[in-house]
Amino acid sequence: MTKLQQTSPNILATLAEKAAEATDLHLLIQNIIKEIIDYMEAVSGSIMVYDSEENCLKLYVSSSHPVLAKGLQKSSVKRIALNDSVSAQVFKSGKAIISNPKYSPKGNIKLTRKNDSGSFMSVPLKINKKSIGVMNFNRNQNQKPFEDSDLDKLCGINALVASLIDKESLLEKIDENRKEITALFQMSSLLSESNDFTGRLEEFLKLLSKELGMKRSAIVKTVTPSKSVKSSKNLPRTIEIIAAHQLKKNQLEEMFDSITDRIRQKLISSPTNPSNDDETPLTLLFDDGNESSEMYCIPLYVEDSEPFFLIVSRSFTETDEIQAKKYYRFLQIISHNISSALTRENMLKTIRQDQITLKENAERNKIFFEISKDLGSTLDPYTILQKAFDQFNKIISFTTISILLYDELDNGYKLIVQPSEPISLKYQTSLTNNITELFNEYPTEQELSEDNFYQPTFFKPQLPEAKQVSSFKHVLHLPIILGNSVKGLIHLARKGNEDFTAKELDITSQFTGIFITSIKNALIHKRTEKLAFTDPLTELYNHRFFQETLQQEFTRSLRYKKPLSLMILDIDFFKKFNDTYGHLVGDKVLKHVSSIFKASIRDQIDTVARYGGEEFAVILPETSLEGAAVFAERIRSKVEASEVIDGEKKLKVTISIGVSCAAVTKCSKTSDLIEAADQALYQSKLNGRNQYQTYKDSTVSYEKKH
Ligand code: GH3
Ligand code: MG
Ligand code: MG
Repeated sequence: MTKLQQTSPNILATLAEKAAEATDLHLLIQNIIKEIIDYMEAVSGSIMVYDSEENCLKLYVSSSHPVLAKGLQKSSVKRIALNDSVSAQVFKSGKAIISNPKYSPKGNIKLTRKNDSGSFMSVPLKINKKSIGVMNFNRNQNQKPFEDSDLDKLCGINALVASLIDKESLLEKIDENRKEITALFQMSSLLSESNDFTGRLEEFLKLLSKELGMKRSAIVKTVTPSKSVKSSKNLPRTIEIIAAHQLKKNQLEEMFDSITDRIRQKLISSPTNPSNDDETPLTLLFDDGNESSEMYCIPLYVEDSEPFFLIVSRSFTETDEIQAKKYYRFLQIISHNISSALTRENMLKTIRQDQITLKENAERNKIFFEISKDLGSTLDPYTILQKAFDQFNKIISFTTISILLYDELDNGYKLIVQPSEPISLKYQTSLTNNITELFNEYPTEQELSEDNFYQPTFFKPQLPEAKQVSSFKHVLHLPIILGNSVKGLIHLARKGNEDFTAKELDITSQFTGIFITSIKNALIHKRTEKLAFTDPLTELYNHRFFQETLQQEFTRSLRYKKPLSLMILDIDFFKKFNDTYGHLVGDKVLKHVSSIFKASIRDQIDTVARYGGEEFAVILPETSLEGAAVFAERIRSKVEASEVIDGEKKLKVTISIGVSCAAVTKCSKTSDLIEAADQALYQSKLNGRNQYQTYKDSTVSYEKKH
C-alpha cells in the first residue's frame, strides 16, 4: 500500500481511462503502452500476453519499438515461444530482469539489438502470483540505464496492467468461444433432423466452409474394391460422395490420386479408435487451379460401416499454423457431430428398410394366401397355373412366366407359358429354346427330347393387346424337384433392363413350393379321373365317359348350331372268334380294332369309346352326316385290310357301322341319336355286314333283327 502511494496517482487514472476506451485487447495494449513508456521515460516498450491455448507469448509493441522496423505489421501479433529468451525467463520465473550493458547489475544478460546498446528492463505481469505476461522497456545509450528504483516506480502499475489485460483477454476469449459455440450449435442442430439428410449435410458443409473460411468441403465414403483383398497395394479407389460443397467427384478423385501411398495407406488403415482426438489431421497439399491448397482429411467413425471422411480444403498460407490448429480443433468437434448424425441416419435407414421389408412380406403373404386358396378351389392343372401366374405377377414383374413339367400321364414334357403382355412368335421360339437349353443342364430321369416335348401352350396375355414384345433380356429360373428328381423348370423372363434380384429368386422359390404341390395333386386327380373313364382292356374311354361326352357335345352342337355325328361300330361275327379260338383271341381282336379306331380319329376332337362288348362308338363333333360317312368308310376299309396276328395265325376281321347325325335326325336328346346310329348299324348288318349305313329319317324302315 505504501509502495502504491509512491506511484503517481495520475498515471493510474490515465491508464484506467485509456483502458475504458479500448474495445479489444490489441487496442487496450496500444493505448496503455504509450502512457507507461512515457511514464517510465523509456524510448520503446512491449507487452507480451500469455496464450494458454497456443502456449506462447503474444507480443504487442509500442509504435516506436525496433521490431516494427523489421517489417512486423503494426496490427499483427507476433508469437514468441516459451524458450529461453529473456521474456520467457521473466515469464517463467516471475522475476524482473534489468539489463544494463555498462555494468549489468543483475547478471550477464546482453541486449542483442543492433545500433542500440541502451538498457533494458523486463517485468512479469502477475495476477495472484501467476504470470500472465511480461512487460518490457528499452532506454537508449544516451539515457540513464534502468535501476532497481525503476522497478519500484513501476510497482502497482504492472498489477493494474495485468488485471486490465487479463480482464480484456478473458472477455475476448468468451466472445470468441461464444462465436464458436454458436456456430457449433447452429451446425449440429442442422444435423439433428433426418428429413432430407443429404440436403442438410450439404447445407452443413456450406455453413462450415463459411464459418472457417474454407474453400471446398465434402463428406465421402471410401469404397474398398474387394473385401477379400486387403493388401497394401489395394487402395480405396472409389469414392462415394455423400455430400459436397464446391467439390466435384473428379476433383476428389484427382486429390486422392495425387496423394502419396503412405497417406493413402493411412486412410485405409485409419484408426478404429475414435477417442484419439489429439491426433494431428491428415493434411495434404495439392494444386487447386492457380493456387496451392491444403486439405484436411478427418475420419468420421460410423458404427457398422466403413469410415467416412470429412474433407475440407482452403488456400494454403505457410504462416498460419496457429489459425490452422484452431480450425482443426473446430473440425474435430464438428466431426463428432457428423459421425453421430451419420450413425443415426444409418440406423434410421435400417429401420426404414426393415419396415419396408415387413410391409412387403405382409403383402406377399397375402398374395401367397390368395394363391393357395385359388389352388385349392380347382383340380384342373391349367386353371391352377393360370390363376397362380396371375397372382404371382402382382409380386414380381415379368414378361413371361413359364413352367416346364414332366407329365406322367402323357409321358412327355409340357411347357405352359403365361405372358403378361402380347409376345411375338420370335419371342415364343427363343423362349422355348432358352427353357429347353436351361433344363437340359439338369440331370433328369426322363431326358427332354423332340420326341417327348409337346407343343407349348401359350396362355392369353394378362394385359390388353399392345405392340408385341419380341425379345427378353433377363431370366430367372429354378428347377422343379418332385420326389428326388428334377421334373421341370420354372422360368421368368423380363424384357426390360432390370435384372432379377436374389430376393426375387427367393420369392419365386417360395411360390414354386406353394403351387407345385397343387399342380401335383391336380395331375394325380386327372390320372384317377382318366382311370375311372377308361376301359381297361382296350384303353378306350368307357361307356360312362361316352355318355357324358356325348351329352356335352350334344348340348354344344345345339347351342352353336353345329352338326354332331355319331358312329356305332360292331364287329362282324365276333362270337365266332371266341368260339373258334377262345376268349383270349377274342380279346386280342377287340384290342386290334381299338388301336385302329384310336389311330383313325382326330386327336383332341373325336372321342372313341367302348360302348359295350364288341360294340364301339365314335363321337364326331362338328361333322356332317356326309363327313361322318367318309370317315366310317375309311375305318371300315382299314379294319378289313388289317390282320389280327395270333402266333402263326393271321385272322381277318370286319366291322359294320351305323352313322347318325344330330343335324339330320333333329333329335331332342342323346338317346335319339344313339338310337338312330343303332338302327343304321342294323341296316348294315341286314345288308350283309362289312359296311356302313347312314341314318336318315326316311330310311327308318327296317325292323331290328338278331
Ligand atoms: P354280328 O355280326 O351279328 O354282330 O355277330 P356277333 O357274333 O358279333 O354277335 P353277338 O352280339 O351275338 O356276339 C357278341 C359276342 O361277343 C357275345 C359275347 O360273348 C362276346 N363278347 C362280349 N364282350 C366280350 C369280351 O370282352 N371279350 C370277348 N372275348 N368276347 C366278348
Ligand atoms: Mg358283332
Ligand atoms: Mg354285337
